[in-house]
Amino acid sequence: MAYTIDLSGKTAVITGSNSGIGLGIAWELARAGADVVLNSFSDRDEDHAIAAEIAGETGVTARYIQADMSKGDQCRRLITDARQCDILINNAGIQHVAAIPDFPAEKWDAIIAINLSSAFHTTAAALPMMRAAGWGRVINIASAHGLTASPYKSAYIAAKHGIVGLSKTTALETAEEPITANTICPGYVLTPLVESQIPDTMKEYDMSREDVIKNVMLKRQPSKEFATVEQMGGTTTFLCSDAAAQITGTAISVDGGWTAL
Ligand code: NAD
Repeated sequence: MAYTIDLSGKTAVITGSNSGIGLGIAWELARAGADVVLNSFSDRDEDHAIAAEIAGETGVTARYIQADMSKGDQCRRLITDARQCDILINNAGIQHVAAIPDFPAEKWDAIIAINLSSAFHTTAAALPMMRAAGWGRVINIASAHGLTASPYKSAYIAAKHGIVGLSKTTALETAEEPITANTICPGYVLTPLVESQIPDTMKEYDMSREDVIKNVMLKRQPSKEFATVEQMGGTTTFLCSDAAAQITGTAISVDGGWTAL
């Protein structure tokens, strides 16, 4: 039997998808035929324009729904407002870097809320819809930092390790149903989140942009290349395919060999 990836008739909700990896995933799912619901906390014309562009280019239905993923009730409202959620991509995330004694408690709380608790709330709201539809995919975007640690990123690493565990639990609770739950663990991807860290790091180490990229950012990424948002989209689309129906409860690294070290 040949496996093709045709997601027409499915609706994908992607949290934190007005830029970066979430947006890349939305494009790839739309190219595979899924209707997509984009999200972030803002409600600007340009957010809605991104959805219109995806709809125009791919022919799917694309909507933008504002909801703040730091608030549990808004996470659940995102799913109910979407009305259908066959594919749930928990992608929204923020970062803060500081040693543990200096780590602001409010930053800890925000990172745990956006990067981890939001996925609990959206999954809780989406699973009944998937069960009613008789099919579902939950894909959580963690990080190489969901499997390994680095100093000064305590909240991010705790949240990303946590979401790997949440995915496993979701997989076990749905194991006998046509629903899978997995984590994708990207290495460094050149998104606005990463791009914004380059100027400060150049100043801090008195380095050129090229040196920061090669010797700081990609130091632990053996391929010495950024992964791309299209690769995250392609991996996501594969996990939605029939070929991946028995892949559940796993963490897939897309990290140029980082976690092989
Ligand atoms: P990004 O800043 O481009 O995207 C983050 C998204 O989350 C944005 O759409 C932003 O609007 C949204 N967001 C932030 N706070 C939100 C909130 N309160 N409510 C709703 N949406 C919110 O960054 P990215 O690099 O694309 O990151 C996406 C995910 O990938 C994150 O979970 C990040 O931890 C993870 N990741 C990124 C990399 C990388 O190298 N870029 C590596 C590993 C993991």
